[in-house]
Amino acid sequence: MKKTAKKAERRQIFRKRVMLTFSQKLVGQPVMYRLIKEYDVAVNILFAKVLPNETGKLVVEFSASDEKRLNKGINFLKSLGVRIEPISKEIVRDEENCIDCGACTSVCRSGALSIDRKSFELVFDQEKCVLCEMCIHACPMKVINISF
Ligand code: SF4
Ligand code: SF4
Repeated sequence: MKKTAKKAERRQIFRKRVMLTFSQKLVGQPVMYRLIKEYDVAVNILFAKVLPNETGKLVVEFSASDEKRLNKGINFLKSLGVRIEPISKEIVRDEENCIDCGACTSVCRSGALSIDRKSFELVFDQEKCVLCEMCIHACPMKVINISF
């Protein structure tokens, strides 16, 4: 029993979801490659967008085998001038005025928004949301917003 607990402890993975903003200068550079190679931090890109001024925005989940390693990787990004924000924003919906039309589900690539097959009502899974904001623009009733 003790051995199993120790094994589980050894396998513990530290994860962090953040939003990264890259300057124009960094957009074409192998920043993520270096983070993975040199700092042994795994990067799961949940959402990526290059804005008109060519600033890059990424929503990522970092994971590493220990917290120190993860923080070193994050400090590396900061030293390059990457802005790192914890994901403290969230998508909110005015349920009373939602008509469950499903328009928002067609643009939600992460699968956070779906229509329940039995009730035909909109279901929102906050855990899957990558804050791409596509649903905000797709909603004809304007009932989806972002809260800070
Ligand atoms: S912001 Fe909207 S469209 Fe984007 S992942 Fe979240 S729920 Fe889906
Ligand atoms: S698009 Fe707007 S009204 Fe339609 S289901 Fe989504 S939140 Fe509701």
